[in-house]
Amino acid sequence: MSNSTQDPHANAQQQLSTVAKLLRKNYTDTKAFDQVISKLLQPDRVLETKLEITLDSGKKQQFQAYRSQHNNARGPYKGGIRFHQGVTLSEVKALSTWMTWKCAVTGIPYGGGKGGVVVDPRTLSQAELERLSRAYARFIADSIGAWIDVPAPDVNTNGQIMAWMVDEYQKIQAENYPARIGSQTNPLATFTGKPLELGGSEGREEATGLAGVFVLEKLVEKLGFTRKQDVTVAIQGFGNVGYWFAYHADQLGYKVVAVSDSKGGVYVESGLDPAQTLQCKREQGSVDACRCNHDSCEVQHGKAITNQELLELPVTVLVPAALENVITADNAGKIQATAVLEMANGPVTPEADKILAQRKIVLVPDVLANAGGVTTSYFEWVQNLQGYAWTKDEVINKLRPLMEQSFAAMWEQKERHHVDGRTATYLSAVKRVVDAMLLRGGHENHTLSD
Ligand code: NAD
Repeated sequence: MSNSTQDPHANAQQQLSTVAKLLRKNYTDTKAFDQVISKLLQPDRVLETKLEITLDSGKKQQFQAYRSQHNNARGPYKGGIRFHQGVTLSEVKALSTWMTWKCAVTGIPYGGGKGGVVVDPRTLSQAELERLSRAYARFIADSIGAWIDVPAPDVNTNGQIMAWMVDEYQKIQAENYPARIGSQTNPLATFTGKPLELGGSEGREEATGLAGVFVLEKLVEKLGFTRKQDVTVAIQGFGNVGYWFAYHADQLGYKVVAVSDSKGGVYVESGLDPAQTLQCKREQGSVDACRCNHDSCEVQHGKAITNQELLELPVTVLVPAALENVITADNAGKIQATAVLEMANGPVTPEADKILAQRKIVLVPDVLANAGGVTTSYFEWVQNLQGYAWTKDEVINKLRPLMEQSFAAMWEQKERHHVDGRTATYLSAVKRVVDAMLLRGGHENHTLSD
């Protein structure tokens, strides 16, 4: 196993190995336990191809694409599809591993999967993006299904992309299996994060950020705060997750003092207005432009900061909500937050974990903090399978207790075993997956679809 902090899959493996050492003493059949852990260190299956599409110019272009299916002992593989120029095989494998733990954290009946395409979607026209999305759906069509592997959006993918993919998937099903039409499981249940008109769920768009705020509420209680306005929050990333987290935290009275996007950030000591900042970002192109004092560009009296400066602000809660590996051994010593709430996947490296723990900075790990997204995807899948749509209130009322229970379980493990938040969360999540694999037996070569 590589020790590189910049290798996401090596990080994911290292996290699992650390937890396996602690869990191992609870198992009498240590040989079976070791076999199961060794299987979990690698995905069950990785699909890899080069997708070729015709650009608007008539030229052909190829894009590297992946789908990693990590584990399905607890249910179908589940995980998003990322379109980003920085996608790597290691990243997709790590993200699929984290999905396995994430689904186990809130107890939803899924395993872990993840997909990615190496592309900067800003360089594509809408028609090219559609062709690429349909090509990706063709690539994975034979390996997915409502009871096999259920993809969803991730960085730079959205409901429209899911709509193209589900449409392409249905066409392929109709071409390849015409006799089965009408007798199959609802094919819409093969993708989640779809637009409402195509079987999407109420509340899905804001679910990850909102559920993160449910966790924030419980966290600040444990940190001993009684007044929300005393809690300052800095958020890296102002996309789907970062924005909705900022919006709901602000609505509840927490003081959001800084947000950023890929171009940089804005810091407003007295607290900023996330909705106004989003409006400004739309007009100006980036949040770091949303700081000045003139009517033409004013959001608040703030100053522009770099992403690095944002991470090092003296706030109560630091919320990385962009990409992975942003808190490393190089900057973990400079983090001044009381707690780090990981809304992005994998933002803190294992080396940084150790430094944060030594410095008594509380960590709420990604697999718990951002589990609201996949949990609402699960609700969408359940609604598709039932053929019955829930209201937004029904969705939120089911989401909130799951997040609160998962946080309480983490805190209880953390206090009982005197471990950091990630280890505490992994202890119960990994145990659930290991137990499912051991119960099934034949773990050396088992897969649900055998
Ligand atoms: P998004 O594409 O909507 O937003 C990403 C944000 O990160 C944008 O504001 C972008 O400008 C910013 N960003 C990109 N590169 C950056 C950099 N180098 N430095 C600082 N900011 C940068 O994506 P999203 O859906 O909000 O996802 C964000 C993170 O949350 C990802 O790690 C994703 O895997 C994770 N996540 C998302 C969901 C979901 O429901 N969307 C669920 C669980 C986890």
